Amino acid sequence: MAGLGEFELIARFFTRDTSACDQLRQGIGDDCAILQAGECDWAVTSDLLIEGMHFFLGADPYWLGHKALAVNLSDLAAAGAQPFCFFLALGLPQAQPAWLEAFSKGLFALADTHGCVLAGGDTTRSPSLAGRAGPLTIGITAMGRLPAAAALSRGGARMADDIWLSGSVGAAALALRARQGAAALAEPDALLCARRLDAPQPRVALGQALRGLAHAAIDVSDGVLADLGHVCERSGLGASVQWAAVPRAEALASQPLALQYECALAGGDDYELLFTAAPAQRAAIEAAAARANTPVTRIGSMTKGSELCVLDAQGKPLALSRRGFDHFRD
Ligand code: ADP
Ligand code: MG
Repeated sequence: MAGLGEFELIARFFTRDTSACDQLRQGIGDDCAILQAGECDWAVTSDLLIEGMHFFLGADPYWLGHKALAVNLSDLAAAGAQPFCFFLALGLPQAQPAWLEAFSKGLFALADTHGCVLAGGDTTRSPSLAGRAGPLTIGITAMGRLPAAAALSRGGARMADDIWLSGSVGAAALALRARQGAAALAEPDALLCARRLDAPQPRVALGQALRGLAHAAIDVSDGVLADLGHVCERSGLGASVQWAAVPRAEALASQPLALQYECALAGGDDYELLFTAAPAQRAAIEAAAARANTPVTRIGSMTKGSELCVLDAQGKPLALSRRGFDHFRD
């Protein structure tokens, strides 16, 4: 497996011809699979969180419950879907009522906000290996509803489209670096950034408001450049981003520039929506974002070719070493 990246691995071993399944509008390669079902379509997504990989040992169970569902609702948002139901697969090292109480409270607080019901799942004990309790694993599969053929996807961007980003980026990555001791962060920034890392708010209303307006969309889970890279690849285009335009966490301003670039462009866990739309739709996008009560910013445009470049404040291309997060490369 050495040298094989997460996406190469999926492409090589798990991506097969699905043309025989004519109700599958979209399979592997996007934020959600899209299934055709009569009058409407279903968007389906699955995400797994593992202790020690996605969250620290002893993480607050309330916010773990919230985040496990939030990352799935974020994928539904990227497809423009309305959350409908979800399934919960738990691997627990032990059954502690106080932990389960807090976890389920956090989970259902977010589920209720979005009218998304728990419809099933699976629960097992994760084994003790070499005397250590097995890692806590939380897998969620979520389903959302869409009008037929209305799903947003990564592959729809068109030449000269504007590239837009919701909210701001970089706070979650900065909080992670602070926790790892790689960045110094004072209050109140420390708390604000930790909130972005532990309690992401999926952009569900914006995703739905963008249906019929945006040409392509993705949620920013692995970093702006990595996720914009997926849009470029699936759309057969390049992109040009202006660093000065990227809406970034205020807490980044006092950090070294290299760390600002890294957190805002290559840091993960923001769960904002990145999307593209025709320049003629600027006013309509602003109006849709206002209806969804979500700020949006234009950060660049789609270009010919396959290059992804970021221009600094002087208009010179930045040399960037890290594009984002890959589970088998980092
Ligand atoms: P996201 O970050 O939106 O959750 P990823 O970029 O992680 O999505 O995944 C890329 C695509 O690969 C998605 O369509 C996902 O469903 C698919 N995928 C990931 N792992 C597997 C797997 N083990 N088997 C089949 N498809 C997978
Ligand atoms: Mg996604």
